[in-house]
Amino acid sequence: MSKFLTQRLQSFAAYTPGEQPKNAETLIKLNTNESPYPPSPKAMEALTKTSIEDLRLYSDLSASALISALSEDLQVPRDQIICGNGSDEIIYFAMLAFGTRGVSFADITYGFYDVWAKVSGFSIQILPLDQGFNINPEDYTTNDRMVIIANPNAPTGIALPQSAIETIVNGNPDQVVLIDEAYVDFGGESAIPLIEKYDNLLISRTFSKSRQMAGARLGFALGNAELIRDLNKIRYSINPYNVNSLTQALGTASIKDKDYFDWTRSEIIRTREYTVEALGKLGFSVMPSSCNFVFAKPPRISGKAYQDGLRQRNIFVRRFELARIENYLRITIGSMPQMKRLIEATKELICS
Ligand SMILES: *Cc1c(COP(=O)(O)O)cnc(C)c1O
Repeated sequence: MSKFLTQRLQSFAAYTPGEQPKNAETLIKLNTNESPYPPSPKAMEALTKTSIEDLRLYSDLSASALISALSEDLQVPRDQIICGNGSDEIIYFAMLAFGTRGVSFADITYGFYDVWAKVSGFSIQILPLDQGFNINPEDYTTNDRMVIIANPNAPTGIALPQSAIETIVNGNPDQVVLIDEAYVDFGGESAIPLIEKYDNLLISRTFSKSRQMAGARLGFALGNAELIRDLNKIRYSINPYNVNSLTQALGTASIKDKDYFDWTRSEIIRTREYTVEALGKLGFSVMPSSCNFVFAKPPRISGKAYQDGLRQRNIFVRRFELARIENYLRITIGSMPQMKRLIEATKELICS
C-alpha cells in the first residue's frame, strides 16, 4: 500500500475472485461458474477480419444491433435496455445512481454488493436469510434504501418465485429494487413481466453464465425507460464506450442463436440433476438449485477437507469462509464427464 491511498480504502477488503489457475486444460475447473461449452458457433462467425479492422474506430455508443437483438428476444422496448462491461459494471452503475441513501441485501449473497457499497462509502443494511437460507420478502418491505437481490441467489442457488419479487418491489415504491438475474436462465422465474408495471424495478442479466461469454465481459439491465436513462447518465460520466465492438458483435450473434442457447442450458440442467442426485446419494445436503452450480455440504468431513481433497485430485471448487456456510462448497456444473469425475473423487474422499 502506498502512502497516497485514500484513508477510507486503507483497511478496505476488495472482492476476491475465484482462483484462475494456470494449466487449466489439465484440471477440472468448477470454481467460477463458467460454462464448459464454447460460445455459440454463430458468435465465432461474427468475429471476422472486418470486425477486427473496425477496432480502429470507437465502438457503437448506443450498441444498436445488440440492443435490437435483446429487444426482440426479450420483448422489451429498446429504451428499456442498457448494456455494460459485464453485469458487474451495470450493477455498480445502478448503485452509484440509486444507492446514496444506503443499500440493503442479504448476508449470504453475491459478495460484490458489499464491496461496491463500501468502496462508494454507502451505508449497508444486511437482511439475513432465514434458517433454510431463504429470503423472507417481508424483511424487505418498508425499506428506506435501495434493495439488491440475486434471484436465483448465489451461492445458495435458491430461487424466489415472481410473486415474492413482486411483494418486495411493490413494498418499496420509493426505492429502486435491483434483481440480479445472472442465473435465471437455468430455472429461475424472471421479473421481466413486472417492469411495465413498476417504475422502481431494475433487472440485471449477464452473458457470462448461460451464454458462455464470461471473458467477453457483457451484461445488461432492463427497467423503466427513466431508470435506464439515469444509468446512461452514469455511464456517460464514467465510460461511454463501455462495451467494445467485438463483444457487441459476439453478443448480437449469440442472442440470435436461440437453438444453441436452449441446447446448452438444457445440457447444464440435465447435468445438474445428475450431480444433485449423485451427491444426495452420498449423503451430502444439497440446496435446491436453479443455477449452473450446486451448493452442497459433505457428510462426515469438513468443507475445507473436502475442498483440499478435490484440489489434490485437480478439481477446483469454491468455498466461502463465512458463518453458516463454511462447510458448503459451491460446485459449478461442468460437462457430464467432468461431473462424473467429481463424483468418483468424492467417493474416494468421503468413503475412505
Ligand atoms: C457472475 C455474477 C455476476 C457478474 O457477472 P458478469 O456479467 O461476469 O460481471 C453478477 N451477479 C452474480 C450473482 C453473479 O454470480
